[in-house]
Amino acid sequence: MIGAGYVGLVSAACFSEFGWKVTCIDKDPAKIDLLNKGHVPIYEPRLDELLERNLRMGRISFSTDLAKPVAEAELVFLAVGTPMRRGDGHADLSFVFQAVEDLAPHLKGFTVITTKSTVPVGTSREIEKRLRALRPDAEFAVCSNPEFLREGSAIYDFTHPDRVLVGCDDDRAREVMERLYKPLALRNAPVMFVSRESAELAKYAANAFLAMKISFINEVADLCEAVDADVQEVATAIGADGRIGNKFLHPGPGYGGSCFPKDVAALIRIAREARSPLSLIEQVQTVNSERKIAMAKRIEHAAGGSVAGKTVAVLGIAFKPDTDDIREAPSLIVVPMLQEKGAMVRGYDPHARENAEALLPGVVWCASALEAVEQADVVVVLTEWNEFRALSLESLRSRMRGDVLVDLRNVYEPQQASAAGFSYASIGR
Ligand code: NAD
Repeated sequence: MIGAGYVGLVSAACFSEFGWKVTCIDKDPAKIDLLNKGHVPIYEPRLDELLERNLRMGRISFSTDLAKPVAEAELVFLAVGTPMRRGDGHADLSFVFQAVEDLAPHLKGFTVITTKSTVPVGTSREIEKRLRALRPDAEFAVCSNPEFLREGSAIYDFTHPDRVLVGCDDDRAREVMERLYKPLALRNAPVMFVSRESAELAKYAANAFLAMKISFINEVADLCEAVDADVQEVATAIGADGRIGNKFLHPGPGYGGSCFPKDVAALIRIAREARSPLSLIEQVQTVNSERKIAMAKRIEHAAGGSVAGKTVAVLGIAFKPDTDDIREAPSLIVVPMLQEKGAMVRGYDPHARENAEALLPGVVWCASALEAVEQADVVVVLTEWNEFRALSLESLRSRMRGDVLVDLRNVYEPQQASAAGFSYASIGR
């Protein structure tokens, strides 16, 4: 497994739990050192116990050196990052192609090379071409096996997938992939074999569709406010329709994270270059960018028109609960906007503080929600961590100087907030 990030580590841990022998490789020596000492560099529920058990059983190991593991491997996964390229929105494939160059000299015997990273259509073919040029003598096949896990429930998603998708044009490689996923197939997880291009595109199309659902309900929430409807009621009503489904119909401050923004941008580029633009998805991207800015304005409005000289407590910095990932989080737009408008921001997040500190200078970091709201004029819920649901609103209110609660995740009930003495603003109701 090349790449010990979210996807690489979780995949490696789960494959080793299935009983396979896995070596997880990363070019970052500090990360490998931590892992070898039994520490997990990211916060992901249950990942620590899984890694600890499989490390103890000798089924998983960590290294910066890929020579021996690649030579011995039947299957090499590429799980390196494919971030957004500066300027044009394309997926940056430099980490993928670097890994291909790194592994090529060590291929020995028939080896399946499989991308778990999200990569543009045609990347499997390009990897094959490059490997063929580097090692005309080697026996290998290149597959695509995009990953659909969600941060925060990654282990569950990996072991209970809606489907496992494999893009594969080679019979020998198919046999290896079938064997690898047999433990899931035996539990009735659908393992789907399609062409490599279909697999590559399906991953982007899935994320774009989910992003579209979020932008859709966000716009409907705005409309609800304008016409006195309640977005929770509307979402429940439309979600009951099996054709629509009730997931991803939660209005909020816009999608973020390490995947949706970059994958939407990359799909837009792929479609434009294929001269088959996805105008719907281009609009989703615009709606979502505007959404984050609109949320900062909404906070100002709730604060009486200005946050200048006011103290704003922000609860939740990660892009979603149960992760410490802050990539493209709405907080990275909203917090600096509030600071620019003269607010003093106090921040609390159960796990993301360490990642956020460098990116959000000027924030006063607190050890709990109750500490964050101390003497605040306004409190904003930006990420719906479960621990915020159980907070006593009376306790929050009593510690504050002001009485404004801006709930951008609809965690609380309006009556409950009013009863606690808050001037309450939420989304779409
Ligand atoms: P990440 O940034 O957390 O991890 C990538 C890791 O790869 C880093 O540790 C980096 O040091 C390592 N790396 C880079 N180049 C390397 C090389 N040449 N050799 C060895 N190690 C190298 O990334 P991630 O979030 O795990 O995402 C990986 C891929 O999976 C991306 O394409 C992403 O779009 C996709 N994906 C991510 C998620 C998610 O929820 N994070 C879900 C599905 C798919």
